[in-house]
Amino acid sequence: MTVAEPGFAELRRRLGEVDDLRKAAWVLHWDLETMMPSAGADVRAEQLGTLAGIAHERFTADELGELLEALRGYENDLDYESDEASLIRVARRDYERARRVPAELRAEMVRAGAHGNQAWRRAREANDYAVFRPALERNLELQGRYIECLDGSPDPYDVLVAEYEPGLTTADIAAVFERLRDELTPLVTALEPPDDAPLDLGLSADQRRSTVATLLERLGFEREWGRFDNSVHPFMVNFGTSDIRLTVYEEGDLRALYAALHEFGHGLYERGVSPTLERTPLAQGASGALHESQSLLWENLVGRSHAFCGWFAGLLGGIEPASLHRAANRIERSLIRVDADPVTYSLHIVFRFELERELVSGSLAAADLRDAWNARVAAYLGLAAPDDLHGVLQDMHWSDMLMGYFPSYALGHVASAQIWERARADLPDVEEQIGRGEFGPLTEWLRERVHRHGRKFTTPETLERAVGGMFDPEPLLRYVRGKLESS
Ligand code: ZN
Repeated sequence: MTVAEPGFAELRRRLGEVDDLRKAAWVLHWDLETMMPSAGADVRAEQLGTLAGIAHERFTADELGELLEALRGYENDLDYESDEASLIRVARRDYERARRVPAELRAEMVRAGAHGNQAWRRAREANDYAVFRPALERNLELQGRYIECLDGSPDPYDVLVAEYEPGLTTADIAAVFERLRDELTPLVTALEPPDDAPLDLGLSADQRRSTVATLLERLGFEREWGRFDNSVHPFMVNFGTSDIRLTVYEEGDLRALYAALHEFGHGLYERGVSPTLERTPLAQGASGALHESQSLLWENLVGRSHAFCGWFAGLLGGIEPASLHRAANRIERSLIRVDADPVTYSLHIVFRFELERELVSGSLAAADLRDAWNARVAAYLGLAAPDDLHGVLQDMHWSDMLMGYFPSYALGHVASAQIWERARADLPDVEEQIGRGEFGPLTEWLRERVHRHGRKFTTPETLERAVGGMFDPEPLLRYVRGKLESS
């Protein structure tokens, strides 16, 4: 970025400091998940709280607001797409949101999230939703107060959507999800159970680790700017565009390899953000949905294709491409969201979105949530949850104040199929290239269309630059029908 305006240089300096504090907290968090001995948890929680508090204080300082005000004229003279105008615009949006919620309410929500998470774990041990219910009621009350601080839209759920998918409304999401629900429900409820067992490659821990290492290396993940470690739940975090950390499952085989492919997609996104945005709030993926679109593109659209399975079977050795493809495309209705395949996954999200909206609006009471959950599972998946662990207690999101995040997962599925259709149109040889293990052309295309923008644009603006339009469920539905016909 060029720095012609002294006020802008000061803004960058201040935002750079806040970014340093946040990234330092992420390093501590990464260490907590991968390396830290369990007895370190209490001290680590304090350290994370201190860093988050200082970062929040610096970011919400009056002086920062005054700077953002003073820069309005400078911003208006700039191109909307420029790094400078985008930084001022997005920082102002974040700032206004951060300032409108009182610090006491934020702190109370953090505490309630921690308590809610403990209550959720106790409820899971007892396999009884009733144990979790008081914590959920408390969380909903605080969530309601939070929404009041930020409200200004017709639907209270819009406040939560804006948090994770800026530029999108509840109505936008509902339109996409209604189409998915109406089209997928009859297909999914009619699915017969698969007649083969899941494939077991029989990899030892060492073999799995070396296979993941080779896979990542061949995909273009370089040791100079990335590393991977084990964790209980795979995730990606980055401390800069040239320091990308992935984690992979400690166990399992085919599932672990596809989880690595998923996290690679997240990491490649962060790696591809323009270095000119480093140490600013724009140096990260645009939103949860865009991030999932990248991980799912690699995991599903690339990873479960004939071309990839042919290449990957060669890399694994000892398995026929057709067997690998069949195993990677096994479709089965299941009660557990995180185990769901690309065909049935969206329905798990659609009914969570519906229930969340009803909980937030007050039309559904927490007391009736278990029954409402089980009724949706029966209607959309044609399954009956035998207990709460396989039902309403399976996800941690509602215990941990993450209401409003679920839609991003299914929107990511929708966008991944849109982006893949567009990539194939622009790169007619992409499948042949993948079959030969050449991933560079697709990576370059994604970088140009999606990654380099970072968080400069809203969710719809970023998708527009990628595919020339808004969320459209039809490419995903075409993909799903194709999978069902060939299975
Ligand atoms: Zn993901």
